[in-house]
Amino acid sequence: MNRPDTVRTVRIAGPGALELTEVPRPVLGVGELRARVEACGICGSDGMFAGLGRIPATTPFGHEVVAEVVETGPGTDPQWQGRRAVLLPFGSCGTCVQCRQGEETRCTGGFGNYAAGFADEAVVQAAAVPDWCVVPDGVSSTAASLLEPLAVAVRAVHKSEVLREERSLPVQVAGAGPIGLLVAYVLLRFGFSRVTVVERNEGKTSLLRELLPGARILTSLPEEPVHCLFECAGAQPVLDHAVTQGVERGGRICLVAAYKAAPTLDALQFMARELTMIGSFSATLADAESASRILFAEADVLQSLVTDTVPLEDVQGAFDRLRAGGLLGKCVVRP
Ligand SMILES: [Zn+2]
Ligand SMILES: [Zn+2]
Repeated sequence: MNRPDTVRTVRIAGPGALELTEVPRPVLGVGELRARVEACGICGSDGMFAGLGRIPATTPFGHEVVAEVVETGPGTDPQWQGRRAVLLPFGSCGTCVQCRQGEETRCTGGFGNYAAGFADEAVVQAAAVPDWCVVPDGVSSTAASLLEPLAVAVRAVHKSEVLREERSLPVQVAGAGPIGLLVAYVLLRFGFSRVTVVERNEGKTSLLRELLPGARILTSLPEEPVHCLFECAGAQPVLDHAVTQGVERGGRICLVAAYKAAPTLDALQFMARELTMIGSFSATLADAESASRILFAEADVLQSLVTDTVPLEDVQGAFDRLRAGGLLGKCVVRP
């Protein structure tokens, strides 16, 4: 157990190597909150950073954080005491042209205040925690930690522009990691009646059937083309199939996955078949607010996506399983 003046935090010590260390507990500044981390989901991007042996300087390690406020700093509303909240990682500058237009994922300024969640505690500015991030009673912290990935899924569905079209058009999600699964969940929730999910790992099928009733679950890419494909697999064969036949002429590919290596694209087919490709990265506060309405109403259902929980001491093992493809759903760290 840590001393009262220190807190434990997970650091990346080298490629694939994590280290649980004790660091001094920071003194709270004006407007800040100290919150005890209750849950922090492990994201595919965290696994990528751990594999690289480092994280980008402006990225918190562990960004799907739910924490209970245990102390308020000078000038902070004492009403925060005891509240549980999702601490979102969208630390955009708020003042550049992109931010002013509500497009914080394209922020050109510096990054602001956010919390690293693989730790005992997090310190954040109270002003950076919107009211709708406060977790309602009756919603578990584990379920609430899905807000950030669900916001990423909501953004992808919005950016794909399928919501402007008929809900009977065939849509497909390739890759049912947590993000792909949540994209499919959002599509079904918005009334799409022909949602296909392609996931090679047959072990995930029962989880997919439970969370996505109404979706067609396949273990290989289908013959018949879809109108819009959400590429959540980060796999070259998915892109090749989409460009040549998997997406109908004039259809769209919404790219959500992070590819480990730069993929290639058959530009001739892409042009001749008049396809459109849309990138969707992270999420904005507006996406997260939409996601919070879905999550906090349907937490009992979405909770099933969390298939593993581990304490801070076992984060290394959880990352090893993530990188080996051994996790069926989401793994959440509960310090
Ligand atoms: Zn994430
Ligand atoms: Zn900005």
